[in-house]
Amino acid sequence: MTAKIIDGKAIAKKLRAEYHARVDVLRSRYNVTPALVVILVGDNPASQSYVRGKIAGCKEVGIRSELVELPASTTEEQLLEHIERLNNDATVHGILVQLPLPAHIRVSSVLEKISVEKDVDGFHLYNMGGLVTGNTVFSPCTPYGVQKILEHENIRVEGQNVVVVGASNIVGKPTALMLMQQDATVVICHKKTRDLGHFTLLADILVVAAGVPNLIVPQIVKTGAVVIDVGFNRLPDGRIVGDVDFEGVKEKASYITPVPGGVGQMTVTMLLHNTILSAERAATATTSPFRRRA
Ligand code: NAP
Repeated sequence: MTAKIIDGKAIAKKLRAEYHARVDVLRSRYNVTPALVVILVGDNPASQSYVRGKIAGCKEVGIRSELVELPASTTEEQLLEHIERLNNDATVHGILVQLPLPAHIRVSSVLEKISVEKDVDGFHLYNMGGLVTGNTVFSPCTPYGVQKILEHENIRVEGQNVVVVGASNIVGKPTALMLMQQDATVVICHKKTRDLGHFTLLADILVVAAGVPNLIVPQIVKTGAVVIDVGFNRLPDGRIVGDVDFEGVKEKASYITPVPGGVGQMTVTMLLHNTILSAERAATATTSPFRRRA
């Protein structure tokens, strides 16, 4: 069996065209331009590169974006003050603080400071909790991107065995919870999982987000499985690879996402979606979605 290679770039392009049309409607009907503010603290090169991708994505669909660059010496209090100002600015629909933050700043207090209605990354505790109860205001972008890929390919989730390798708060756990909401039977594996292959061989849908190149080899993949590789690893020779042995596993899976060109394209796309959704809510709602849902 040779897998269908899922073209994340093409899916993202199609979705971005739809989102551009939604921005046009917001402009013409409500005179509103969706706006995202990205806060970058320090000069981590990887973060700078991710932020550039987000800003470019905004431009592509007509979202107004602003990059607030703060020095690594910024105190937690100063950062919270910036967020407070943006929370109170009605022209801003999304606030994103690029992670990781310098060690002296507590990530939890920063994420919880962001207004839930503007938490387009979906990392606020309320949105995290909403993953359990099924009523998030915003879904976290990478897991949402995984869900959109499955939807686009008409891959049934209900009743399927899903194995998620990786249990981080930003990818593994929310992906597992979102797919569980869709009635999959979900197993989460992590570093301390004994005999990873025992679990991955059960997977009809295998989502891998461990950050370990070649963790998933054909011997531990069920024939015909759908394999979604979230991993993004830079090898010493400069090549970018995922967590899956792509060449080997594509001969056994029914669907597979490449790296690059798979899930990565979808993460920023879902951020754009969430920002537009936030602007649509602000333009049309008399009460906030947070208060309505709470
Ligand atoms: P993370 O916070 O480092 O979490 C990695 C998870 O994988 C942890 O739960 C860890 O287990 C688990 N793990 C590590 N080694 C393992 C092993 N040998 N067997 C089983 N589980 C193992 O990373 P993350 O932020 O979730 O990101 C994961 C990967 O996805 C990275 O490559 C990252 O670059 C990529 N990523 C891509 C996108 C995208 O848009 N494409 C977005 C976000 C992240 P423990 O919990 O036991 O430590």
